Amino acid sequence: MKSARLIEFGSPLELEEKRDPSPKGTEILLEVLACGVCHSDLHLRDGYYQMGKGEKLWVKDRGVRLPLTPGHEVVGRVLQVGPEAGKVPLGAVKLVYPWIGCGECEECEEGTPQLCSSPKSLGIYQDGGYSDRILVPHPKWLLDTHDLLPEYACSYACAGLTAYGALKKSLPLSAKDHLLIIGAGGLGMFAAQLLPLLTDAKVIFLDLDEGRLAKIREFGFQTVNSSEGETSEAVRKIVGPKGVSAAIDFVNNSVTSSLAFSLLKKNGKMISVGLFGGELKIPTPILSLRSLTVRGSYTGSPSELAELLQLVSEKKLAPIPVQVKSLKEADSILNDLASGKVLGRVVLTGK
Ligand code: NAD
Ligand code: ZN
Repeated sequence: MKSARLIEFGSPLELEEKRDPSPKGTEILLEVLACGVCHSDLHLRDGYYQMGKGEKLWVKDRGVRLPLTPGHEVVGRVLQVGPEAGKVPLGAVKLVYPWIGCGECEECEEGTPQLCSSPKSLGIYQDGGYSDRILVPHPKWLLDTHDLLPEYACSYACAGLTAYGALKKSLPLSAKDHLLIIGAGGLGMFAAQLLPLLTDAKVIFLDLDEGRLAKIREFGFQTVNSSEGETSEAVRKIVGPKGVSAAIDFVNNSVTSSLAFSLLKKNGKMISVGLFGGELKIPTPILSLRSLTVRGSYTGSPSELAELLQLVSEKKLAPIPVQVKSLKEADSILNDLASGKVLGRVVLTGK
């Protein structure tokens, strides 16, 4: 088994080889065919989230233990099945639902393990898919990929699911409404792909990077480049002086969250998703007088992921840009993500 592992926070990932594990109990061993590289893996390598005013939220204080194999967007082929795992066909290709919970709390029992307070997520609290092998604790976390190729299917487990969950929270929106989406990276590209299925609202994407915005325009949306200054005015020029009915912030730092909040029209909704870090100062009378909603959104449930895969496969959506790379490039891809060089998603092959 070959893996790219995080040994120390703030240090590069290291390649490690060891004997393949054998699945015990209900475990399933998969050969990793594709694993998406998410910006969250970069926060994990750093070891913290920015909380604003220089304060940090350390992932070790949230229960992350090293060494760890990152990677939570995994498609794999079933290699071996534990003695209590039941009938899982060898050779089957499956998408792994990574947002595993304790299995006993209210959230887990309600089918929302992504909100469990004792999370066991793969690639964060347990070894994930930056590897050629992954152990999944139970077959219930394996989903059908339908006819999607592994490199396209894998990122629905996080980027696709997160975009889907955030978009659903922005609804209902009518053709008269404007929706602002901040961030045209992995999550933003999936939002662009899914938007036509969910709403006919008028959508504006905002990012600092012209290359990504050009790709978003190919999907048929308007864009604003926030590196060009006067961002608020540029958005208002498109949407009118009242502002937007909803804003989804896939960056969610101090600047973007304040901008999104300031652009909301009365009764508007803001959905905070990104983990770039920072803080948002909200004058409380504004929240009441303008009847605004501010809420967070974290990934999605197993049933939402199954629903999403079914939808994507039925509707034959145009894929987002995907680049396929080898496992040994994992660390340099994280550097590319940090410096904003990735268009769409990079996917590791497990080789
Ligand atoms: P990415 O690196 O692929 O994309 C980030 C995009 O944001 C890039 O296009 C970049 O140019 C743009 N950007 C950065 N700073 C900006 C700014 N100040 N103004 C405008 N645009 C800016 O990242 P991703 O994989 O799409 O993830 C985005 C964020 O969402 C990360 O922080 C990630 O950890 C987080 N995330 C959250 C969830 C969740 O469930 N809440 C799930 C997955 C990822
Ligand atoms: Zn992710």
